[in-house]
Amino acid sequence: MPELPEVETVCRQLDPELCGTTIERLEVLDPRWCRPEPPAKLEKAVGGATVEGLDRRGKYLLLGLDGDRTLVMHLRMTGNLVLAEGGDTLDPSEGRRLYEGERSTSERHLRARFRLGDGRELWFTDPRRFGEAFLVESEAALVARFAKLGVEPLSDEFTPEHLGEAAAGRTAPLKSFLLDQSRLAGVGNIYADEALFRARLHPLSPAGSMRPEHLEALRDAVVAALEAGIEGGGASIDDYRDGRGERGTMQDEFLVHTREGEPCPRCETPIVKIVVSGRSTYYCPSCQVRLRRRARRR
Ligand SMILES: [Zn+2]
Repeated sequence: MPELPEVETVCRQLDPELCGTTIERLEVLDPRWCRPEPPAKLEKAVGGATVEGLDRRGKYLLLGLDGDRTLVMHLRMTGNLVLAEGGDTLDPSEGRRLYEGERSTSERHLRARFRLGDGRELWFTDPRRFGEAFLVESEAALVARFAKLGVEPLSDEFTPEHLGEAAAGRTAPLKSFLLDQSRLAGVGNIYADEALFRARLHPLSPAGSMRPEHLEALRDAVVAALEAGIEGGGASIDDYRDGRGERGTMQDEFLVHTREGEPCPRCETPIVKIVVSGRSTYYCPSCQVRLRRRARRR
């Protein structure tokens, strides 16, 4: 599933491409993409709009439109937002021209198509169809919509103190704590594993057991893991493609995620896989410390 670095990669690539273009027409090919809104209503509202930019909040893509409106999109499991420069003759997922009459793999999974005024097309493709979109009509409504979303980990607000307040008294495992979008926005299964490894913290440690030095280490580790992901252009384990339809390289740089049985990059102990809150979790049993629950009163 695309996480913050994957969504950020798409934003950084497509924002300069889309800024100032007009959306001549939006075609919603799968009503599930914008439900409960009827496709015709969304198509009418977005058709003719000028794009003011592409931004990100957590794992959400925010397509800024004129009139203070925002088309919010979430890629969920297998969604991709890809700029198709050559219309139907180019397969953005494979980056190659197609033979006459051949249908691109992306096109088969097309859920929505933005026809831009300059002839290019923006495709929302999604084989598993969990991706979604909705229109927010004002800046205030956008703020309200994201009021319950946690802190942005790449912002100045994400401090060890902030992390400490969010974790105080929590008995949930650190892995689950990092995945909770209402506390920290944008971290998912991959980068939670990578951050805990960098911080040398065991994924099953109770979140509330962190001491100041752990909070600082975890804050730094989350930032470093996400920045490495952005640097690598995101991770393409399954379906993720960047805004140009190309694979990221972060999957080749994982320290522990999906590395079961391989030697720990720090101490060479084989990496172990367990399941935490239903999610596959990878860690080094030797150099990631399992913290004990702290006594309430001391
Ligand atoms: Zn190790």
